[in-house]
Amino acid sequence: MTATATDRILNFSAGPGVLPEDVLRQVQSDIWNIDGSGMGIMEHSHRAKVYDKVLAEAFADCRAVGNIGDDYEVLFMTGGATAQNHLIPANLLPEGGTADYAVTGYWAKKTIAECKLYGTPHAAFDGESTNFEFVPSQDELKFSANPAYFHYTSNNTIRGTQYHYVPETPAGVPLVCDMCSDIFSRPLDISKFGLIYAGAQKNLGPAGTTLVIIRKDLLERSPRPLPGMMSYKVFAAKESRPNTPPVFPIYVVGLVFKWILKQGGLGVIEQQNAAKAKVIYDALDASDFYTTPARTDSRSLMNLVFRTPSPETDKKFLAEAFEAGMDNLKGHRSTGGMRASIYNAFPAEGCETLVQFMREFERRHG
Ligand SMILES: *Cc1c(COP(=O)(O)O)cnc(C)c1O
Repeated sequence: MTATATDRILNFSAGPGVLPEDVLRQVQSDIWNIDGSGMGIMEHSHRAKVYDKVLAEAFADCRAVGNIGDDYEVLFMTGGATAQNHLIPANLLPEGGTADYAVTGYWAKKTIAECKLYGTPHAAFDGESTNFEFVPSQDELKFSANPAYFHYTSNNTIRGTQYHYVPETPAGVPLVCDMCSDIFSRPLDISKFGLIYAGAQKNLGPAGTTLVIIRKDLLERSPRPLPGMMSYKVFAAKESRPNTPPVFPIYVVGLVFKWILKQGGLGVIEQQNAAKAKVIYDALDASDFYTTPARTDSRSLMNLVFRTPSPETDKKFLAEAFEAGMDNLKGHRSTGGMRASIYNAFPAEGCETLVQFMREFERRHG
């Protein structure tokens, strides 16, 4: 299947992001009539056989993609990553306890703010004074004496930085990761993590569901009574349907898992992503016209942030790129400049097209 059907443009959106063409075609058909049931996926009950199968396959395929063992629960929740910012301390932080955070950008700052509702956050690292240009090395993480967990953001969607290792925590301290913008972009050693969460809309599907992978022993930790909708334990016990779940997004996420498996799994996906990013970073490095704020060792393979010599020229870049069939290249409002988000489903040819355009633009404006 070609990645550039003529009525679709190149979508560099940071989220909701581009979906695989094969998935969208399947969705088109299943919206009308799924599995010969005479009804579309959005019209089925969340207790119906059709959804039982969709959900069972989504769980199984997620486990296959992430190589996730029986000692972990897979949950489909709602409220996005933003809800996880308070669900995590609510479920894991004892009254008056401390949790450690690596502050590497906007989302990390938001998550630390919500922790204060339940206890005391400790910044194991704070990149604010260095403009969030890099993620910390293991040695730069300064843990508190007895944290309930350590939270980090594996990929900083806005700053364009990414960890290229999994941090180690002091013995017995669960590792908690906001993996919103790079989940399943590379192989995962699940055994290193206590909890991983990701809103679906960057690398997994449409907005509306949040994937949570949690080590089973942590389900028992809840230090306080919680509403059922806030409890990991309740979601686990009720197979992620304590109420009417977002059937449609969960179904699409299930198709994306199948698509990843069909590509050959996360090893192949990782190679594709590395090759895609290299095309663009090589072009940026070969030019004095474009600059990238992210430190070389912390560069994100998902969100590539760059700018031209001036905000006025950035504006021209965005307008001309749009004319050339490339949309959503505008950087986050807090950083300005450009950001090319090239999630799993973004086609490799699209990266080549962007680089061609960048070269021509530099020739005309450099
Ligand atoms: C997009 C994003 C979020 C916010 O996700 P919501 O689903 O809108 O709550 C949080 N963290 C990171 C790293 C993100 O990229």
